[in-house]
Amino acid sequence: MSECSDVAIQATCDDASLCKRYAVQRGYWEDKYIGYMVQSSTSRKQPEISRGYYARTEAIWKLLVQFVSIMEQKCQIVSLGAGLDTTYWRLHEAGLVPHGYFEVDFIDVVTRKIRCIGTKPALRSCLSDFETQSDKSCLHCGAYRLVSADLRDILKLEDKLISAGIDFRLPTLFLAECVLIYMAPDKSSNLINWITDKFNDCVFINYEQINMDDSFAKVMINNLKLRNCWLAGAQACLSKQVQMNRFLDNGWLNVVCNDMWNIYNRLPDRQRIERLEMLDESELLEQLLQHYCLMVAVKDTSDLGLEMML
Ligand code: SAM
Repeated sequence: MSECSDVAIQATCDDASLCKRYAVQRGYWEDKYIGYMVQSSTSRKQPEISRGYYARTEAIWKLLVQFVSIMEQKCQIVSLGAGLDTTYWRLHEAGLVPHGYFEVDFIDVVTRKIRCIGTKPALRSCLSDFETQSDKSCLHCGAYRLVSADLRDILKLEDKLISAGIDFRLPTLFLAECVLIYMAPDKSSNLINWITDKFNDCVFINYEQINMDDSFAKVMINNLKLRNCWLAGAQACLSKQVQMNRFLDNGWLNVVCNDMWNIYNRLPDRQRIERLEMLDESELLEQLLQHYCLMVAVKDTSDLGLEMML
């Protein structure tokens, strides 16, 4: 298994945002901001891909809204490997910005995002004090904090988050969307462990590939041009159970994990999005979604009601 280079890993954020933008343009969900982060995709995406992105975005959005609502906004969200994600702006539009919203990614991605925000009034206007920011490698704009760090280096990550004003006493939700899979299993375990060590009340949402050892997964990896970028964490992603164990073994007490086919079938909006684009056959969608999962882990020491999210 060859490890992915950091440059190839960073490029995955373009792919994620291009697919999201494409699906938004086709009407799967609304996001006024994604169009400012990436250009419109030149190639057509298969409907299976857009449906998959819809299920992922919708399921995660519901959990974020639930968390911020339970906590009445007295909480923090940390988006690990945030890439060009627009969730902060969508929460801002919905009036649901938490006390602190932190985004972490490699420095090159962060500087690119800062440049992008700086040239787009629609993005900039949602951030207080943007004009006074002089550092090109981080942003501290009111609740929004964009931080550069390598998630494999816990000491530096902790330093950066502390400088950005993280409060270990506040209930905090960590979001990792297709991120842990690019880290070696011992590094992702360190990260998961560090979070339960530091925070008494926390939630972890992890969206990523599973069952990457079967023949469908091999075709999928080829299609996604990830062959040379074979996922460093893939060993740890053999099944839902292994996903859950990774958290249970590292200090989290309550964990649930569903594959995305299961989640897709329970989406209240399913009929609407299925009318947007026809599928030649539904088997491909089922197989694709069975190779992704959404895991939620909760540690609720103060009995805040976070277990409702499971
Ligand atoms: N979460 C975003 C989304 O869903 O739109 C981006 C997903 S993209 C597939 C993965 C992101 O994780 C990239 O932006 C990459 O740079 C970041 N990433 C992966 N490993 C990382 C690490 N060790 N440290 C910091 N960022 C990392």
